[in-house]
Amino acid sequence: TSSPTKILLLEGVSLNALNSLTKQGFEVEYHKKALPKDILLQKIPNFHAIGIRSKTQITREILDAATNLQTIGCFCIGTNQVDLDAATQKGIVVFNSPFSNSRSVAELVLGEIIALSRQLGDRNSELHNGIWNKVSNNSKEIRGKTLGIVGYGHIGTQLSVLADAMGMKVNFYDSLSLMPLGTAKPLASLQELLMQSDYITLHVPETPETKNMISEKELSLMKKGSILINASRGSVVDIPALAKFLKNGHLAGCAVDVYPHEPFANGPNFHTELQGCPNTILTPHIGGSTEEAQFSIGVEVSNALSKFLTSGCSMGAVNLPEIDLKKPVGKNTVRIVNFHNNVPGVLKQINKILSDFNIEKQTLDSKGPVSYLMADLSLEDLREEELSQLHSDLNSINENILT
Ligand code: NAD
Repeated sequence: TSSPTKILLLEGVSLNALNSLTKQGFEVEYHKKALPKDILLQKIPNFHAIGIRSKTQITREILDAATNLQTIGCFCIGTNQVDLDAATQKGIVVFNSPFSNSRSVAELVLGEIIALSRQLGDRNSELHNGIWNKVSNNSKEIRGKTLGIVGYGHIGTQLSVLADAMGMKVNFYDSLSLMPLGTAKPLASLQELLMQSDYITLHVPETPETKNMISEKELSLMKKGSILINASRGSVVDIPALAKFLKNGHLAGCAVDVYPHEPFANGPNFHTELQGCPNTILTPHIGGSTEEAQFSIGVEVSNALSKFLTSGCSMGAVNLPEIDLKKPVGKNTVRIVNFHNNVPGVLKQINKILSDFNIEKQTLDSKGPVSYLMADLSLEDLREEELSQLHSDLNSINENILT
């Protein structure tokens, strides 16, 4: 269409997103805060895309009002704030940014490995309370020690490289068979990793298999005097068991950034069994919370939004099939994007409509109830009537969600 594509950015998403989208010619309305629901309901029909963080609830009611909305960018990791089923049924593509903060988490963990080896948390709180306690007992260098990484994905591999550079021996365990980086070594089982490591750090996702992956049995397999770090998800560690193994001295310390139940807002009265345990660093889920991560989230999500709006590329979508025709839309090319119900016979109907044209490229993929088709048609000379006929023919397919 010739009218400008409008994007609503809320909750003060990174300014680089605003700048980059504006530069590309999108009409962007930017708000530092989330909008009250009634205002959002009024505004949303005017926009083709919306960018949010975790506060804005995109419910079915909002989506019903969003008659022109094509895509939602979550400038964060989670997508729980969006009714994904409703978005999927409407062919609205949802993007997020799950890996922009991997480096930030890896750096925090590396810092904690050193801090715990030198009991920095305990010395710091003692001295804040006026207690001078100069000790070298149980204070250690990390050079030459063995780090065991559980989960060798985006974060695990970043940490592997950093720890390697610090002179640590790096072993890892992952349920997939993955290429080790540097001098890291894959081990065949979690048990082996637990038994051989001076430090264990967890970087697995939250799944039924990883629930309480580290509980009494696993803690008792860890070396006496070893250290546990969890910056993955709160469900992965049995916290009462961990507290027990810290208090009885089997573990020499731990750092925990994530908890089974985390408050929605900052404030007092957070409780965990780990409070008061020796050499224990507790942080409020800040592993990925850095300015650099916010900046990369801004770049990643704004790129995903603009690529989808200009070319239909859905790579990185959380709710709909991920497809990309790669080739940019040329001068004499028309790109068709079509979302339809994933049922037999639709492709036949679409291709019947497209059969009068020269199809340069075509791709289709399905995810759950929705299929997504993209096709490039090459045209000798582009006539408006021909195009609007094509558009209305495609729109007349019963199983269509969006063309
Ligand atoms: P990722 O998907 O890139 O890597 C996870 C790895 O774990 C994969 O290689 C996978 O094969 C492996 N894995 C999955 N199940 C396993 C199992 N049962 N046993 C062994 N290995 C298994 O994920 P990532 O980006 O590296 O994130 C890791 C964790 O960190 C996630 O839980 C994520 O939610 C969390 N995270 C926390 C913060 C924070 O602020 N603390 C920030 C970002 C991510």
